[in-house]
Amino acid sequence: MTVNWHAIDTVLLDMDGTLLDLHFDNFFWMQHLPKRYAEQHNLSLEQVSTKLEKRMRDYQGTLNWYCTDFWSEEFNLDIVALKQEIDHLIGERPFARSFLEALATHNKQRVLVTNAHRDSVELKFAITGIDAHLDSVISSHDYGQPKEDQRFWQQLQDNIGFDPERTLFIDDSDNILHSAEQFGIAHLLGIEQPDSQRAPRQSASFPMISSFAQLLSIGT
Ligand SMILES: [Mg+2]
Repeated sequence: MTVNWHAIDTVLLDMDGTLLDLHFDNFFWMQHLPKRYAEQHNLSLEQVSTKLEKRMRDYQGTLNWYCTDFWSEEFNLDIVALKQEIDHLIGERPFARSFLEALATHNKQRVLVTNAHRDSVELKFAITGIDAHLDSVISSHDYGQPKEDQRFWQQLQDNIGFDPERTLFIDDSDNILHSAEQFGIAHLLGIEQPDSQRAPRQSASFPMISSFAQLLSIGT
């Protein structure tokens, strides 16, 4: 993997599936939440899974889809408390921390840009402590638009003043990388295996890394 680090000042990093293992999130939405919902409503897991999947599909790609308050109300469950029940599954992807440290050594600005709600961000920081290695943290909920929307990137630029030509953005979602590309961000990288428990994915659109170990040779 060759990145021209001399051409980059700012590194924008996604959280779930990029810095952190998506296994926690997939396990939560596909297994833990349906199980708890079924228990509360005295329903079978099959009944619940069909119902929840349909509801979640309706909101995919919108800010609500990422909003813990929205789902807490929608399902009448405390989403944050349920997430805490399985917080031992929260973990970093390989060499994420080493990569953030290397970026700091070479004076690159490190900005977390996530669609996750602040509640989820705080939970993940409390477990991993990864916020100690970030210069800024932006949740799209701060702007009222998800990363899929061009208005997110405009607000981000107004807010932190990055130069799209000299910015690298790393995210595990092709849709979101396309959105950043449309805004003019010049350097884009995907993640091959966002969830450590699932098979690697393919992307015809963007180069991908399997581990941040591939990016540790900054400045050489
Ligand atoms: Mg992600």
